[in-house]
Amino acid sequence: MRSATPYPGSAAADPVDILLVDDQPARLLAYRAILAPLAENLIEANSGAEALKHLMERECALILLDVNMPGMDGFETASLIHQHPRFEKTPIIFVTAINVSDMDRMRGYKLGAVDYVTVPIIPEILRSKVVVLSELYRKRRDLQLANQNLEAANEALRVEKRRELESLNESLRVANNQLAARNVELQSQIADRITAELRLLEVNRRKDEFLATLAHELRNPLASLGNALNALQLAERTEPPHEAMQRQLRLLVRLIDDLLDIARINRGKLTVQHAPTTLRAVLDAAIETAMPLLLADRHTLDVRVPDDEIALYVDHDRLSQVFSNLLNNAAKYSPAETPIELVARSDAEGIDVAVIDSGIGLDAGQADKIFEAFAQVDTSIERSRGGLGIGLTLVKRIVELHDGRVDVHSEGLGRGSRFTVHLPLVPVPREAAAAPPAVVETGTNASCRALIVDDNHDSADTMAMMLKMLGHETHCVYDPRLTAGAVEMFEPDVVFLDIGMPGLSGYDVARTLRAAAGGDQLTLVAVTGWGHDEDRRRTAAAGFDHHLVKPAEMATISAICNRLTPRPHDQA
Ligand code: ADP
Repeated sequence: MRSATPYPGSAAADPVDILLVDDQPARLLAYRAILAPLAENLIEANSGAEALKHLMERECALILLDVNMPGMDGFETASLIHQHPRFEKTPIIFVTAINVSDMDRMRGYKLGAVDYVTVPIIPEILRSKVVVLSELYRKRRDLQLANQNLEAANEALRVEKRRELESLNESLRVANNQLAARNVELQSQIADRITAELRLLEVNRRKDEFLATLAHELRNPLASLGNALNALQLAERTEPPHEAMQRQLRLLVRLIDDLLDIARINRGKLTVQHAPTTLRAVLDAAIETAMPLLLADRHTLDVRVPDDEIALYVDHDRLSQVFSNLLNNAAKYSPAETPIELVARSDAEGIDVAVIDSGIGLDAGQADKIFEAFAQVDTSIERSRGGLGIGLTLVKRIVELHDGRVDVHSEGLGRGSRFTVHLPLVPVPREAAAAPPAVVETGTNASCRALIVDDNHDSADTMAMMLKMLGHETHCVYDPRLTAGAVEMFEPDVVFLDIGMPGLSGYDVARTLRAAAGGDQLTLVAVTGWGHDEDRRRTAAAGFDHHLVKPAEMATISAICNRLTPRPHDQA
């Protein structure tokens, strides 16, 4: 039975089960009457056994338990209920007679009773105890429910996270596998590239070696030709073709020198030897070299150089090569009879030398590339003008070795070019400035006895022919092993020795001659196709006095025979 107005703290919408256990129906009725206003579910049991049976079916918020029941009394029932794990915390209010002893109360509390009510029951007291315990139960149940929800949400989150993590892990595994496969592919590509690069380097090295050997091998026939031409000149048999042959020979020698230089640049072996000189001397040497080409096309050369002597501390020959290359190009890439200018100016910053022509010019794209090795703008046309596409590479490298730079400006195709070399002013070191002049003539021009040792017959014979025309006595040896005997027999003043000979090298021959009695009196001249600094060091170490590169200039050979004290580096 429910009252119309809810009792304060009553269940309202959320009633709990309350088990009423008593063997007396009248008492059960009384309990129901007292508790009805609370609007909870009241369940009745007439004995302890029936109470246990109820509990097996549904949980209760609390139990109102009569202590004195026949058979299983309240304490025994409470003990059995609380032994069950599901109900060990279910609160029990014992209903006792007024005369219950303290001992019994103690027993009840030990069995987990929360409270006692005594008969006769005061309704308000019972209701308020039941309200508190019911509310406590509801709270606990809500809390349990919230906990369960939380647990379920947590579990769902855990599952979701695990799923996400697994999917992430799977993606990672796939990505990792792909990465590993790509890595293997890359490694193999890198290995291929390294192999290809090594092969290229090897090919490049061989190419440079080949260029050097080729240049060296070409020098032998050129030497013979040069000697023969010199001999003809000395015999004053210079019919018209002679001059053309001299010119072409010079061109060939220049091409070979350029080839060798490019091989040196590629191997990082191009070096410069700084020595005191002047800007005028450098430019004069360049003009002299370029003059044949300038004259051939009847160009006019306008030279504007400061009047003051500008002292330089540079590699004279190499720097002359820079300007002769630029002048040669100006002549090559301009129509015949057009003017070419060579303009130099200096200030505190340094020196600028410009070579200006009014020739075929360059467009912007070409200007960037022409300093690269073998770069030619239009190979079909440029090739017809001669050249290997090396000259400007050499210019750039040599200028850089002097801490300078070179740039080009052209207004466009057909509008001429201006190449400008910028060089820093380097003070001439005091000790270098004080050095004695490089060439001192002490000679007598007297005839000398020259022994020529070369396994190349033509080379030896033409050299002998030229020396004879110069007024010297000569003797040729073609087998280096016969040199010592020839020296003993011929008693030469000077021995011209080829270096690369079969059986015995020029170095070995030189060492043997130097070691022999009177060997220190001999002038030993190496005549070789190899002209690098390293080669010069080797000949000097073997005891040579001079190192000439084939084809040697007649003037240099003549100077040696006439006892000129030559320049330290006789000629390149
Ligand atoms: P080469 O003259 O042997 O071809 P260079 O290295 O001296 O080689 O020059 C490279 C290229 O630069 C030439 O082939 C030519 O196309 C261009 N070039 C050089 N000098 C001039 C110039 N004065 N005017 C126009 N083009 C030039």
